[in-house]
Amino acid sequence: MAASLRLRGAASGLWYRSHRPRPAAASLAAVASRSMASKTPVGFIGLGNMGNPMAKNLMKHGYPLIIYDVFPDACKEFQEAGEQVVSSPADVAEKADRIITMLPTSINAVEAYSGANGILKKVKKGSLLIDSSTIDPAVSKELAKEVEKMGAVFMDAPVSGGVGAARSGNLTFMVGGVEDEFAAAKELLGCMGSNVVYCGAVGTGQAAKICNNMLLAISMIGTAETMNLGIRLGLDPKLLAKILNMSSGRCWSSDTYNPVPGVMDGVPSANNYQGGFGTTLMAKDLGLAQDSATSTKSPILLGSLAHQIFRMMCAKGYSKKDFSAVFQFLREEENF
Ligand code: NAD
Repeated sequence: MAASLRLRGAASGLWYRSHRPRPAAASLAAVASRSMASKTPVGFIGLGNMGNPMAKNLMKHGYPLIIYDVFPDACKEFQEAGEQVVSSPADVAEKADRIITMLPTSINAVEAYSGANGILKKVKKGSLLIDSSTIDPAVSKELAKEVEKMGAVFMDAPVSGGVGAARSGNLTFMVGGVEDEFAAAKELLGCMGSNVVYCGAVGTGQAAKICNNMLLAISMIGTAETMNLGIRLGLDPKLLAKILNMSSGRCWSSDTYNPVPGVMDGVPSANNYQGGFGTTLMAKDLGLAQDSATSTKSPILLGSLAHQIFRMMCAKGYSKKDFSAVFQFLREEENF
């Protein structure tokens, strides 16, 4: 397996290191068609809150797109803009040898890759498949094995930054996969993000993403309960936020995404917690952290509690609100 990956890596035509074997002439021809024709169509599967602006940034950089989403309305504006909409992930794979997937969960990703009309049904040898969904790292590794059997390359590249960063092309991508393929992935990901970071083998991008989101969830709950306590002690929320942000309690949730309405403009708490990063998605990511903690025997006491809190919020009608609505949830849970 390692040998074939090495050969394919070298065969991406991006660079050679002197100690690597040179690929055969036939491989070089395959290389040239993927890496040199850089404005050949790119497949994009999953045009939701994140996929939509990400795909638009690829268009802005001159890449023609081959589009698919299970929800046909999600494809409409791309069709109107002259992009090619097809009727299955397999059809995307038939027409494009670089594909990005941006799907909600592990189940959706498995369906898009390995389902009856999945990418793997028609994937071309040498294709580069980049999954930017946040899913279980173990699932990424399984998908990578299946993709490899078909002679193609899989990388996990989940993102941090949310819808705003997706629109402005300022996402952070955490990339796992064969290092020799990183430059090829970066060519596309750099059109959608300002930070594209190589993390290591397949699954390590997901690992970094899950760790970040567990810390984010914990710090958001901490900020929400701190602000609530201060308010009940008679402090003005804006003043309290200002003091926290010049003190040791400062964090992203307090200084950039404060959960208390009226403290900051342009954040979901200023807009009845609409938009942003949904509570359901945060609960899902904490579930992934929980699974990873179980499999690695890692204690995540606060991560587990955060998981329960966001799950409880989903059950109590907060699922469509931004995750910073945990402040509102705590305010309304007088019985805590
Ligand atoms: P979304 O639900 O808005 O969009 C997902 C899209 O995928 C939908 O249009 C849906 O119809 C489509 N889809 C689902 N299953 C499919 C399938 N089998 N084949 C084709 N299309 C399918 O989700 P989103 O907010 O865009 O998030 C996507 C991923 O990015 C998630 O894993 C999420 O955790 C992660 N993420 C989201 C944010 C955010 O702020 N929303 C930030 C960082 C990471």
